[in-house]
Amino acid sequence: MTRTEKLLAELIALPSVNPAFLPPRHPHAGENRVAEFLAATAATAGLEVAFQKVLPGRANIIIRLRPGGKIRQTILLAPHLDTVGADGTKFIPQRKNGRLHGRGACDTKGSVAAMLTALLELAQTKSRPVATEIVFAGLIDEEHAQAGSRALAANGFQAALAIVGEPTRSQIVTAHKGSLWLRLTTHGRAAHGATPHLGKNAIYEMARMAGVLATDYAVQLRRRKHQLLGTGTVNVGKISGGTQPNIVPDACVIEIDRRTLPGETEKSVRREIAALLARKKLSAEIASAKLAPALPLETDFRLPLVRQFLRCTHQRRPVGVDYFCDAAVLAAGGMPSVVFGPGDIAQAHTTDEWISLAELERAKNFLLGFLKSLP
Ligand SMILES: [Zn+2]
Repeated sequence: MTRTEKLLAELIALPSVNPAFLPPRHPHAGENRVAEFLAATAATAGLEVAFQKVLPGRANIIIRLRPGGKIRQTILLAPHLDTVGADGTKFIPQRKNGRLHGRGACDTKGSVAAMLTALLELAQTKSRPVATEIVFAGLIDEEHAQAGSRALAANGFQAALAIVGEPTRSQIVTAHKGSLWLRLTTHGRAAHGATPHLGKNAIYEMARMAGVLATDYAVQLRRRKHQLLGTGTVNVGKISGGTQPNIVPDACVIEIDRRTLPGETEKSVRREIAALLARKKLSAEIASAKLAPALPLETDFRLPLVRQFLRCTHQRRPVGVDYFCDAAVLAAGGMPSVVFGPGDIAQAHTTDEWISLAELERAKNFLLGFLKSLP
């Protein structure tokens, strides 16, 4: 068993389900068990360990490897420590046919294990950087509200490159889409169901609007293409309106999920939807349906550190992904960020989550090679 696999198995056995998905004080809730285990592992290896308090009883763990000489740049390794929920059997790691099964195996305890093992092995070699500081930040709350990455960025932490751990099949991702939730409300005029002509039916207005979003707006979005991400999308995911059959409804509400491309903002999307609806002679009140939108990510892949990392993974071009993650939050905080980690997003959040052990090792080796190549 490799050191990476052993660490991953130990991490799976320590439940760290995001508390947002569990009832209060559930024994599987929170990242603390994992953070404390990582702290002990790093301290034993002689690394510097600190905690950053983020939410009551929940903290990011920060592990540092200082260079031999003066710090000229910092590289951040930033996987998240929380997972989605699972039944109790999924916290017993199972090895089968070259795969390790269990909650968090790929999302994203695989990245935690690969990144920390690379750092521990780097600390033991003679070829460690002389001027580059490596910081491992185990972040909390990625699966819910990204409180961990937001706190790290808000604290003024800076790095020349942040590598955010997510299952990318060990490919370097420099772009991902954002997600924006909007609530659209149509207003009508109530009337008795026996005399519908005396009212104005808000559901009929909304039905036309949903049709326009599904057809005209979707077509409009397909005309705008990003080289790594393709096009933005729209999905009407929720609808409610009216009270009973014999009343003409005076209001109808939908909630939409708009996946955005780099450059699109909540303001620009709202303006574009309002303009389209106006052209179709429809009117709706448009509001945010989420506290903070998830931002899209676009990091310049010609940056020297990104190119160097690409060379170390023998990858010719970076890739883009549909899902969003902590990388956009760190990038918004001023750190050039990429996403990288072992495992496939197709297995993330599934009942039978697993990771290929060969790939886990390969990711660790890519990271170690990159860290060793730094000045
Ligand atoms: Zn994740």
